[in-house]
Amino acid sequence: MDVQWQRLPWQDALWRQLHSGAARSHHALLLRGPAGIGKGRLARALVAASLCQRPADDGSACGLCDACSWLEAGNHPDFRRVSPAATLADEAEAESDGEGAEGKASEKKASQQITIEQIRGLAGFMSLTTHRGGARVLLVEPAEAMNLAAANALLKTLEEPPPGTRFVLVSSQPRRLPATVLSRCLPITLPLPAAAEACAWLTAQGVEDAAALLAQAAGRPLQALEAADPARTLARRQFLAQLVRPDLDPYAIAEKANRDNVALWAEWLQTWCHDLLRVRAGGAPRFHGEHQRDLSRLAQLAHAGRLLDWELRLRQARWESRQPVNARLYCDALLIDYRALFP
Ligand SMILES: [Zn+2]
Repeated sequence: MDVQWQRLPWQDALWRQLHSGAARSHHALLLRGPAGIGKGRLARALVAASLCQRPADDGSACGLCDACSWLEAGNHPDFRRVSPAATLADEAEAESDGEGAEGKASEKKASQQITIEQIRGLAGFMSLTTHRGGARVLLVEPAEAMNLAAANALLKTLEEPPPGTRFVLVSSQPRRLPATVLSRCLPITLPLPAAAEACAWLTAQGVEDAAALLAQAAGRPLQALEAADPARTLARRQFLAQLVRPDLDPYAIAEKANRDNVALWAEWLQTWCHDLLRVRAGGAPRFHGEHQRDLSRLAQLAHAGRLLDWELRLRQARWESRQPVNARLYCDALLIDYRALFP
């Protein structure tokens, strides 16, 4: 079976628990934990296991039966995945318009949500008899993308699910879900994998310098794998090269911000700030070790109080970076604050 339907090596122990304890019979599971550790992979492995006609002794899907083949082909009649509706094609354009993109901005926001129409659209799926009376599985990913109306609509089915129905919700921000939905789900918390195990896996994926990338990704291996992409490495290097200059030009940098890079930039700014604080306190950088000397120099130059304020602002701005109204203005403001750290 394709790897996307298989769990990751560090999920073996959790997998055994899921197949022995209360989780085995619970109709709704909420997989929670930091982004980039493989919640989606575990969720798909659970979906496959629930639908497989001949699961292995440990509960894993066989990968060979009809159900497994349909799942891989994307046409299993008893499986649905709900995620935010496709984004709009003209977003990039709306972004470059700058001011006056108010209306389009709200459209963009909607496109990042799971809507009530999407949940209502499941009514037929939920009411049909399943193939050979087997299981029916609904994957909601990421669950926090449901707006309130959608969550309430889902709640009705969660409260009175048709027989044999299993819900798998995936969320790195479960606090954004209504308490009513949370109370219907059995929470399964996925921890960060052990660094050695994560490094071994990254190396097996062909990643060079796995340890450094894993550190930059705060121990989250799937994020490290994404970061190993050569284009991403280059973009990161170029972005950080600008930050080592305390007299940088915020506007010139922010001009290149767009919807595709803004979340990454926000993350790099946040990890850069984290390292500045660590180095200033006499520690070693956690994320950007290759810039140790620059970080030491900048940490000495920086105004301590403003650095702490900036850290707070970056944390508050992090969520916003996923759906900024205007990427350019958003980055410009953060970079102006950055330059102001150096009196
Ligand atoms: Zn199978």
